[in-house]
Amino acid sequence: MSVAMPRPKAEILARREEIAAELRRIVPGEGVVSDPDGMRPFETDGLTAYRQLPMVVVLPETVAQVSRILRYCHDNSIRVVPRGSGTSLSGGALPLADGVLLVMSRFNKVLEVDFDNRVAVVQPGVTNLAVTRAVEHRGFYYAPDPSSQIACSIGGNVAENSGGVHCLKYGLTTNNVLGVEMVLITGEVIRLGGKHLDAEGFDLLGLMTGSEGLLGVVTEVTVRILRSPETARALLIGFPTNEDAGRCVGDIIGAGIIPGGMEMMDRPAIHAAEDFVHAGYPLDVEALLIVELDGPGEEVDELIARVKAIAEDNNAANLRVSQSEEERAVFWAGRKAAFPAVGRISPDYYCMDGTIPRKALPKVLARMKEMEAEYGLKVANVFHAGDGNLHPLILYDANKPDELERAEAFGAEILKLCVEVGGVLTGEHGVGVEKRDLMGTMFNEADLAQQERIKCAFDPRQLLNPGKVFPELHLCAELGRMHVHKGELAFPDIPRF
Ligand SMILES: Cc1cc2nc3c(=O)[nH]c(=O)nc-3n(C[C@H](O)[C@H](O)[C@H](O)COP(=O)(O)OP(=O)(O)OC[C@H]3O[C@@H](n4cnc5c(N)ncnc54)[C@H](O)[C@@H]3O)c2cc1C
Repeated sequence: MSVAMPRPKAEILARREEIAAELRRIVPGEGVVSDPDGMRPFETDGLTAYRQLPMVVVLPETVAQVSRILRYCHDNSIRVVPRGSGTSLSGGALPLADGVLLVMSRFNKVLEVDFDNRVAVVQPGVTNLAVTRAVEHRGFYYAPDPSSQIACSIGGNVAENSGGVHCLKYGLTTNNVLGVEMVLITGEVIRLGGKHLDAEGFDLLGLMTGSEGLLGVVTEVTVRILRSPETARALLIGFPTNEDAGRCVGDIIGAGIIPGGMEMMDRPAIHAAEDFVHAGYPLDVEALLIVELDGPGEEVDELIARVKAIAEDNNAANLRVSQSEEERAVFWAGRKAAFPAVGRISPDYYCMDGTIPRKALPKVLARMKEMEAEYGLKVANVFHAGDGNLHPLILYDANKPDELERAEAFGAEILKLCVEVGGVLTGEHGVGVEKRDLMGTMFNEADLAQQERIKCAFDPRQLLNPGKVFPELHLCAELGRMHVHKGELAFPDIPRF
């Protein structure tokens, strides 16, 4: 198997030592790594099927350093891959053989917490969970909560427009970021948004959120912080079929109830999570919903009663309501640990990330069951059901001939199905290299061309994270922008590790 990436530039590789020396002048001390052993930890991200040692790794500490690095790379036509914590599941932070890997993990400070304006200003290397930790003593929290929140960085969250359990009610990263400072490939530092709610001109902040490291490097983020709800209680609801659970999800939202979180797991995922975490999940059901209701106590009580009634109408086999904060945390613990739990029952798994209209859930789940037989591989389903964001985990063994290939083909088929029923290729993990070649199933040529023109406006030489998101980039050259030769943009294959 292979992934096509931009052809390494021989003249750049020949200058590796000179480039590392120049970067050491910009970031003195231990901020530049160029020996293969030292760079090994950076060769992959969360999509571990692909590995590539970078040309050199640089870990700046100041915005001025980031600016100088990017200007130097721009002036010398050197490619740059920005990186936060390297947990991307779509290969967004996969290095390039002739590229500088710009790692933002030293930008790890919470710069300001402004409770009056309900915002926090943080550096991009701060982990997602650390934002909540910095404000929880005053009863606040940061809402988007990816399951990787203990490790992933806010900069990575902005670049991927990350989501999590609480995004159903409180929005994705894009709804919770008010401003960023970012450095362009030319080294210019710009600010988009701020503590205020909106700004004149084009919504470049919206554009930047979810731009997967292709438009600039984020060096500061202003996020909205929210008051923790007065009460939050979770319901565990077991169902005899996936279709019953899927219908129940649609009926809850259809009744005008927006839970704080609404997650679904199927039988293999329930068993894996229960064996791992002992959360008390029922083992005699085919599907499990975790529905969290939050708000003032009386409102939560009323919502619980309404959700119970809807669940019963959809053949719920059993139902428990958390009676304490500890019990609520236990209900969630299994779901939060579902990925590693599935890792215990299969040598490898391939995590998909399609999003569908909620009402298509029963149909898509039924079709996925048929595909299991067609591809000869099992799937454990864990997903943000309220958002219609599916995370089928395709179980395979990379040591068995062609299982990875079958898993990838199966995954592509699931994503095409998501698009077919009116959904999208990714809910929160980004396109990266993983879904890049499927972009044509989602967008027509005109759609893609317009997106490419935006890339060209920010990065005409295509130096920032090339090979990610777009199946091919030719417009910058056609638009007659600086120094891009079509030959450089050919995408030869780089074999898998
Ligand atoms: C076990 C597990 C569970 C996960 N669960 C979830 C989940 O529930 N929800 C979810 O949304 N995701 C989830 N993810 C995916 C991943 O954690 C997120 O995509 C996360 O936002 C990546 O952050 P990172 O700091 O690791 O970024 P990286 O992986 O380092 O980079 C990701 C992308 O962001 C770009 N980037 C990073 N920092 C910057 C910066 N400062 N400026 C510009 N571009 C930058 C990179 O170029 C790359 O394109 C999960 C991953 C794992 C391994």
